[in-house]
Amino acid sequence: MFNKTTEHICIYPAEHYTDRPNIGLIVGEEKSLLFDAGNSEKHVKKMKKELLEQALPLPDYILLSHWHWDHSFGAKFWKAPIISGRKTDEKLREVMNWKWDDSSMENRIKSGEDIVFCTEMIKREYPERDKIEVVPSDVVFDEAMSIDLGGISCELIHAKGPHSEDSVICYIPSEKFIFLGDANCKDLYGKPWDFDIEHEEDFLENVAKIPYDEKLVDDFIALLDTLDFEFCVSGHSEIMKKEELYESLGK
Ligand SMILES: [Zn+2]
Repeated sequence: MFNKTTEHICIYPAEHYTDRPNIGLIVGEEKSLLFDAGNSEKHVKKMKKELLEQALPLPDYILLSHWHWDHSFGAKFWKAPIISGRKTDEKLREVMNWKWDDSSMENRIKSGEDIVFCTEMIKREYPERDKIEVVPSDVVFDEAMSIDLGGISCELIHAKGPHSEDSVICYIPSEKFIFLGDANCKDLYGKPWDFDIEHEEDFLENVAKIPYDEKLVDDFIALLDTLDFEFCVSGHSEIMKKEELYESLGK
């Protein structure tokens, strides 16, 4: 269910079994925006059903935090304009041409275009991988974009951060809240790390061993320092206070 987080924000919680991230719904007097699309048609259908049952609006806009499949592959199924940073759109236009048979997926692991963790999770989410349909964005921005939902505004900011260079965050000043996507997380595509689906219990420990790029963390913190917020939520973990976020980044 979408959990009410502040007066204008609800969050549909992450589901770790197939790496589904937290999804945010920001509701204004006139329009509503969904932060991240979900990872499949199945995921989207589940959320649409909840919105209906909870008498919440279907989103007027879908914002993608970054290109990674778990945040973007549901985009087509909302039937609403998709907004993203330019770098996210460029990457999705590349991913649109990817093939999803075993050997194509295996080859992308070898070339470094994709990683074992995402490949395993995609296989789990999609028993029929020909159902995967990646679409480009409808609205693209470079540094920042502001959206007025009626009585509440969302500031979309190309934040970069340590996780992926295309990361966009959504700052909602009136709620003193930030949707981070994965912007604050480790870079899973950079240095090699171990993932074995037979030993999923080691996942957090193995990710913790990946080093942060300190320069990217510092730049990210410098951006966060300019924003007046109290709480935030990352893609795959619980809501954090601002201080908890800084502490998790070693600051
Ligand atoms: Zn990611």
